[in-house]
Amino acid sequence: MSPLSYDLEQTIALSAVKSAVTICERVRMERPGQAITKPDSSPVTIADFAAQAVICQIIHDHFPDDPIVGEESGALLLQPEMAEHWQQVTNYVQLVFPSIAPSTVVESINLGRAQVQERFWTLDPIDGTKGYLRGDQYAIALALIEGGEVKVGILGCPALSIPHPVSPRLGLVHGVIFVAVRGQGTRVFTLTDHQTYPVGASADLQGVILRLTESIETEHGDLPRQRALAKAVGLGEPPLQLDSQVKYGAVACGEAALYTRLIWKKEPNYRENIWDHAAGAIVVEEAGGIVTDARGNQLDFGCSSKLVNNSGIVACNRAIHGAVLDALNRI
Ligand code: AMP
Ligand code: MG
Repeated sequence: MSPLSYDLEQTIALSAVKSAVTICERVRMERPGQAITKPDSSPVTIADFAAQAVICQIIHDHFPDDPIVGEESGALLLQPEMAEHWQQVTNYVQLVFPSIAPSTVVESINLGRAQVQERFWTLDPIDGTKGYLRGDQYAIALALIEGGEVKVGILGCPALSIPHPVSPRLGLVHGVIFVAVRGQGTRVFTLTDHQTYPVGASADLQGVILRLTESIETEHGDLPRQRALAKAVGLGEPPLQLDSQVKYGAVACGEAALYTRLIWKKEPNYRENIWDHAAGAIVVEEAGGIVTDARGNQLDFGCSSKLVNNSGIVACNRAIHGAVLDALNRI
């Protein structure tokens, strides 16, 4: 049987992420550093809400039967002290849906409150909100999951610069969206010249920078052990520090050979959110790389909104995956 093409899914999902990129970049330019604190003390911005509203509404308009498991909830906007923020979110959503009412904006955000099912989408409207607020890297991450496996991943990286995919001699391209479809490879869409290029730098080490990529936030993993692991498998260059799933994009295009996230002693019960890894994982796999947990097991995206059946993440160049798992038994 030939693999499913997912043509409509990838087209619609890419156009939804492009719309969200426009909104997020505009909010960042017009309202730099403006944060709202969520009940769990983590930051959120009006761009998180606007991006989730737009992406959920576009996906729902084309795939009305598909549930969406997203990071944000519209409930916060309904608090009396949030009235001004709610209006700001509505103003930005109206860039895409000009006549949408504020009440419908909350409904659109809440389309992303569904549960995991056999087929569903998962969305992080702004992955790396802390990076977004700092003016650093962030990602807009949307993925389609069927039977626990990611089938389509769209990873918008508006602030990422990568060597030109045709030849590094052509300089850097700034602002990209990775598009990966199971069995069809990974491509990169450039936001500046609207071209699409294949990306496949994770299958071997040719031309790859031999370094780890790691979070800027030092409490999102076991940084010392992650660095020791990189050293043990011969990655001698200083680590590339990036917020969000942009790290997966860096591995896919050979800017790093390994992205790992190991359970941190201070938070042994932390389990990763599916929306923090789904889009990025398929981007690396379809670029030729391998993504597993720290025991070498496949990531199970079908059990809940968290990766409860997995411990840690190893996303790397195919040539070093075996060595990474071996080294994990020693360090
Ligand atoms: P990064 O920029 O790679 O560190 O990823 C940002 C993501 O880290 C956010 O989307 C959070 O969901 C996630 N996160 C928050 N707290 C933790 C934690 N203690 N351990 C691992 N990841 C976390
Ligand atoms: Mg996130």
